[in-house]
Amino acid sequence: MTTSAATAVVVGGPGLPQRRELRTSIPGPRSLELQRRRVAVVPAGVSSVMPVYAAAAGGGVLVDVDGNSFIDLGSGIAVTSVGNAAPRVVADAAAQLARFTHTCAMITPYEGYVELAEALTAIAPGDHEKRAALFNTGSEAVENAVKIARYATGRAAVAVVDHAYHGRTNLTMALTAKNVPYKDGFGPFAPEVYRAPTSYPFRDGLDLDGAPIDGPAAAARTIAQLDRAVGASRLAALVIEPIQGEGGFIVPAPGFLPALAAWCRDHGIVFVADEVQTGIARTGAWFACDHEGVVPDLVTTAKGLGGGLPIAAVTGRADLMDAVHPGGLGGTYGGNPVACAAALAALRTVREENLIDRAVQIGAIALDRLRELQRSDPRIGDVRGRGAMIGIEFVHPGTHEPDPGLARRVAASAHQAGVIVLTCGTFGNVVRLLPPLTIPTDLLLEGLEVLAAALEEGRP
Ligand SMILES: *Cc1c(COP(=O)(O)O)cnc(C)c1O
Repeated sequence: MTTSAATAVVVGGPGLPQRRELRTSIPGPRSLELQRRRVAVVPAGVSSVMPVYAAAAGGGVLVDVDGNSFIDLGSGIAVTSVGNAAPRVVADAAAQLARFTHTCAMITPYEGYVELAEALTAIAPGDHEKRAALFNTGSEAVENAVKIARYATGRAAVAVVDHAYHGRTNLTMALTAKNVPYKDGFGPFAPEVYRAPTSYPFRDGLDLDGAPIDGPAAAARTIAQLDRAVGASRLAALVIEPIQGEGGFIVPAPGFLPALAAWCRDHGIVFVADEVQTGIARTGAWFACDHEGVVPDLVTTAKGLGGGLPIAAVTGRADLMDAVHPGGLGGTYGGNPVACAAALAALRTVREENLIDRAVQIGAIALDRLRELQRSDPRIGDVRGRGAMIGIEFVHPGTHEPDPGLARRVAASAHQAGVIVLTCGTFGNVVRLLPPLTIPTDLLLEGLEVLAAALEEGRP
């Protein structure tokens, strides 16, 4: 390891200079050298958005190994909501590291696991009695939610919707909608998964002369499809993201989720809210379900939960979760003590730094600026989101035809200018913003101006 004094950055967190600064071309020479080493030993299937290697991060910036400081509008995919290397997370995880790193909660448990389950059951929607089980990744949480629903109901079938993303394991690939890159060539997939239409306000009704489809009507369409294809009495669970993430930051029409939840309740179908991306303050509430008062039977969390450490949970109705026999749920690392300490510190950070309110403010600032851009740019078909989860959908002007090339060019140009943004969407035509909730306002505004300039650059 060689690091010159000029570029050495060893401590991240909010103390890092909060500025965008490019010292080399992007990627710089050290990143290029690491990339050369990487391609020799890491398979191409594990790819990266930017070939820029991280050295430190915190607040609203990420500093690379060449000393370039990027504005972070991605949070490592909605993970570092409390900021990277957040001080409480670092302190509490380090203290736990020094006490013990692992015992396996299935052998000799520890207080952190119980404390995190207490915290999750307290914040999850609804005032009914709840339980929480801890895992490592979002996919694992979703798989376990399905296991619990199947066991508790004695039914096999699982319903999901168009544009869904639930992970990359075998079962969660089956639940995920998009073929390339997530599923193509990786089958056969788990059986008994049934897909139905969702609510996508920007695109719904295009085949019906543009007649709008409101939330309850979209839910009726979803339910009719499931009734036809499966039958409610065979369904163990409906697994759904309250705001779709990878599928395109799709906010369903008001009334869609409540109608589906009511239908599930009436038919004994477990309503699983996959809040792996939306949960833990990201959308300006603890959970995206909270915005419409939807109370899921089970809710999955992961990304924003651990302050950057891998941890996930299924939280929900005690009667469902307690149905499973002892030993039926678990895993070697599930609820790792260091990750539990980090998650508890992340939840405390959300509270003590009022990050739920901050997510609301970030959403207002970003939506305001982006809608202003939209008014003079017909390539911006839709600007949408809740809190600090914001998407810009690009189309060919005057149509709803997706323009994935423009999304790619805008993102690439932002990267070159020192701003980390991600794309998403079934059609690949959405640029998404997921800044850390600790980003200073001036950096957020600067990041939005870089996006505006990237769009201007690409004007025909
Ligand atoms: C990221 C994501 C997952 C998968 O989580 P991993 O930790 O990558 O396994 C599942 N559901 C949703 C909604 C996600 O955004």
